[in-house]
Amino acid sequence: MPRAVVTGGAGFVGSHLCDGLLARGWSVVAVDDLSTGRRENVAHLSSRDDFELVVHDVTRGLPVVGPVHAVLHLASAASPPAYLARPIATLEVGALGTQHALELARLHPGSRFLLASTSEIYGDPQVDPQPETYWGNVNPVGPRSVYDEAKRYAEALTMAYHRTYGVDTKIVRIFNTYGPRLAPGDGRVVSNFVAQALRGEPLTVYGDGTQTRSFCFVHDEVEGLIRLLESAHVGPMNIGNPSSITMLELATRVRQVAGADVPVVHQPAPVDDPRQRRPDITLAREVLGWTPTTTLDDGLREVLVSYRAAGVA
Ligand code: NAD
Ligand code: UDP
Repeated sequence: MPRAVVTGGAGFVGSHLCDGLLARGWSVVAVDDLSTGRRENVAHLSSRDDFELVVHDVTRGLPVVGPVHAVLHLASAASPPAYLARPIATLEVGALGTQHALELARLHPGSRFLLASTSEIYGDPQVDPQPETYWGNVNPVGPRSVYDEAKRYAEALTMAYHRTYGVDTKIVRIFNTYGPRLAPGDGRVVSNFVAQALRGEPLTVYGDGTQTRSFCFVHDEVEGLIRLLESAHVGPMNIGNPSSITMLELATRVRQVAGADVPVVHQPAPVDDPRQRRPDITLAREVLGWTPTTTLDDGLREVLVSYRAAGVA
């Protein structure tokens, strides 16, 4: 049975990735310091022999003994309020944490390494949609730079390990992903809107609400991640949903799906909030045969159901 190490495995995407890998016959070691993740995200796996959760900060190393066939590095705060609240830790996990994860892969010849990068490396993009060949438009000293530049450094370090040591690396640029286990209080737009609609509160739209994002359901995202891991592709690859909507349109969709008659309130836009974001997924289609299949309404419904079950509202 091949064995994968998933850093950030108790987080939102990481816990679904653990599920996906286990379903494909991998055994999984999740390493997570629970800074933004939750033990309950992997509680359903706790009795399995082929799953283990190690609570540990990956900036201090990766204490995994035994065979390792893949390292999937997802550890990092991902919600803007979360990474803005811990700027140094975010830079450290992108730099030191990524190096420890790469070292673990290097020490296990033949193993694969996958870096969870982000659409944020494109910054406030001036081309739409964004192909992997676009180098981005990032403010290197703005508040968001702690996340954006950490991920850009992590990509550079990953390529350096590939070129220097021949580590079998893959870089995935994840675009906005949502689904069950997205922490209701983590501040991202889907979790905020759905929790607000359930509580009968106004939906908080930042800025004028005309900025766009593209939302990928987590099961689709994880399918793309695993296909990339299993592929021979090295360089960066966008995995996300290619249809974009404005935040005002998203508010309308959430209200409809929730059946909530709540107003929208505008709040100030965050500094350097990207105006647009939409992946060009030609590469993922051609190389992996991957394309997302879950509609936004179906995905939002799943989040609603899971939040109701968790007692939100
Ligand atoms: P999340 O906050 O739910 O998960 C991140 C996990 O990393 C958490 O469980 C957290 O406790 C853990 N972590 C953070 N620092 C750590 C450290 N030093 N040591 C060990 N564990 C640590 O966020 P998510 O949405 O699941 O994001 C997972 C990954 O995907 C991140 O790398 C993020 O940058 C990337 N990503 C996510 C999205 C998205 O829309 N969800 C978009 C782009 C990129
Ligand atoms: N946003 C919003 N209301 C909220 C939370 C976020 O209008 O309650 C906006 C935010 O300003 C951004 C978009 O929604 O334009 C997506 O924000 P999110 O934090 O989910 O992810 P980002 O794409 O910024 O990393």
